Amino acid sequence: TAGKVAPEDIEPLSKKSFPLCMRSLHETLRREHHLRHGGRMQYGLFLKGIGLQLEDALRFWRSEFTKMMDGDKFDKSYSYNIRHNYGKEGKRTDYTPYSCMKVIMTNAPAVGDHHGCPFRHTDPELLKQRLQGYRVNTTGVQEIMELVKGGHYQLACTKYYEITHNVDDAGFGLNHPNQYFEESQKVLN
Ligand code: SF4
Repeated sequence: TAGKVAPEDIEPLSKKSFPLCMRSLHETLRREHHLRHGGRMQYGLFLKGIGLQLEDALRFWRSEFTKMMDGDKFDKSYSYNIRHNYGKEGKRTDYTPYSCMKVIMTNAPAVGDHHGCPFRHTDPELLKQRLQGYRVNTTGVQEIMELVKGGHYQLACTKYYEITHNVDDAGFGLNHPNQYFEESQKVLN
């Protein structure tokens, strides 16, 4: 279903069509030029799912990481992992992107990690600030925070989708970050 996405498309797409979990991983990567393993897995597989091909993925990650380390170190320590995600190393399993359930229920982020679901794992005050920073209005922020408080993380994410896409009803039951992306692209294109 996914079309082809080039490394230079990622930045604008992240602002329009990424769910909060992936937008946040993207921003961290751009800011810190690094992501820990959990973040690389969650974000890397998502990018594969939206159509980033292996060679482009290597270029994309390399261009960020080499702002912090030399190319040799990247090639030795990180490129294996990316190739692995595309089924080119190890058991050659073609890894699939994580569902919301998996992100919400397993491998909770520790201090310094940026993976996970912001609606589930981010401190509510910080989450609120982030939403305000993304120009969600006061009513919207309140509605989202109510859903978060009730433990309805995917509904909170859906509410965020509705607000940022200017629709009253998203019209789908959210269960996957890549589904969020595809639905967004349908509405915006
Ligand atoms: Fe990502 Fe799913 Fe959480 Fe939304 S509900 S932020 S898509 S993990």
